[in-house]
Amino acid sequence: MVPTIIVGNGITGVTAAQAIARAEPGTAVHIYAAEPHLTYRRPQLPAYIAGEVAAAAITHRPPAWYEEQNIHLHLGCPVAELDAPAHRLRLEDGTSIPYQRLLLATGGRAWMPPVEGAALEGVFTLRTLDDARTIRARARHVRRAVVVGGGILGLEIARALRALGLAVTVLELSDHLMPRQLDREGGAVLQGILEEMGIHVLTQSATAAILGNGEVSGVQLKEGGRIPADLVVCATGWRPVVELAQQAGLTVDRGVVVDKYLQTSAEDVYAAGDVAEVGGRLYGIIPPAIEQARVAGANMASPGSATYTSTLPSTTLKVAGAELTSLGKCVVDDTQLLQLRHVDLERRHYRKFVVEEGRIVGAILLNERARTPAVRRLIREGVDVSAHTSQLLDDDFDLTSLSTKQVAALP
Ligand SMILES: Cc1cc2nc3c(=O)[nH]c(=O)nc-3n(C[C@H](O)[C@H](O)[C@H](O)COP(=O)(O)OP(=O)(O)OC[C@H]3O[C@@H](n4cnc5c(N)ncnc54)[C@H](O)[C@@H]3O)c2cc1C
Repeated sequence: MVPTIIVGNGITGVTAAQAIARAEPGTAVHIYAAEPHLTYRRPQLPAYIAGEVAAAAITHRPPAWYEEQNIHLHLGCPVAELDAPAHRLRLEDGTSIPYQRLLLATGGRAWMPPVEGAALEGVFTLRTLDDARTIRARARHVRRAVVVGGGILGLEIARALRALGLAVTVLELSDHLMPRQLDREGGAVLQGILEEMGIHVLTQSATAAILGNGEVSGVQLKEGGRIPADLVVCATGWRPVVELAQQAGLTVDRGVVVDKYLQTSAEDVYAAGDVAEVGGRLYGIIPPAIEQARVAGANMASPGSATYTSTLPSTTLKVAGAELTSLGKCVVDDTQLLQLRHVDLERRHYRKFVVEEGRIVGAILLNERARTPAVRRLIREGVDVSAHTSQLLDDDFDLTSLSTKQVAALP
């Protein structure tokens, strides 16, 4: 029987394989993976760098799990070419294999800005376990690090390097940290937390060049000044891995374009996770990747059986005991939207709600763990909070008391 094939063994590939195995017990699913490792949890890589977890502890599933599910894993086996009309793949070693249905779960790769000095020894990006190993090996023997990029990944890396005892400077282009998930007020609270940990933060700082002679020695700032460094990690974004789809002539924009069934422009070829562009959108985080993988897997087993629309963007950063959650449309410059804020710099608390047509559409919650589940539900269910906007920020207002039913029952 012609097999079902998945390219990529990140969380998307493995979740989709499981969905197919469940929907069609007995079907042989083959996963072809460029990396030589069993699927691991990428969010744990900073903790691995810090020496807080071992590589074995971040593995997602043991080998026996694959056998039980009839999933055949081909590690260190990159796919080089897709011939969609012929329903065939060519592996890098030249082997040609047929497929009945195919999932592209090729994910993303770290994006390195085209800056002078990026190729010097000691300059890294972080996406894979192998990247993390190299960073850790160097970090254990040097003293000063610069992290370019003050987004969530940059801050996780900075925390890990600081935990190893390095002097760490974070450079952020914007005027505050985590500009995609935080506004200026929230950024200021977060910066205070990082500085307490001994992490030096420079906002509105652009990297002009990475300096060194063979090996990195520092970073030259566009606004003037140099920061000495023995290790530089660029956490400046990621890009979907679209080459396979592009070469095969599939529709590709920023990612591989898919419809609501997660089908690409080619028959029997699906895409999900970081590589997929759904409704013009790339996500780059795990919750949508898992939801898409389940939908794609269901459709590969039984075409047209499941649809995907969107996932509420949600990120959580845990740093120095602080917990920061950003939900939905939380950074907006639309003056038509109501933006409610509560800042407590001393206690390191920050709470913000964005309200559109009486409904919370976005929120930032820093050290507000108790409120997070209630807010997440209010956004997901689109509960009308218009009668309560003056109370939403009150410390003693019970957000769990609001529900679709209760609001509908109001006169
Ligand atoms: C350090 C780090 C921390 C993160 N933290 C968080 C977090 O806290 N929360 C969150 O939601 N998200 C986080 N993310 C993002 C999250 O890891 C991604 O959204 C997720 O990994 C996407 O899964 P994926 O399976 O689609 O792609 P990937 O994980 O990128 O996996 C794709 C796999 O496909 C393989 N591949 C590519 N091309 C081929 C080919 N031609 N042949 C065979 N194999 C191929 C790649 O080698 C890779 O192993 C983090 C990412 C990183 C790097």
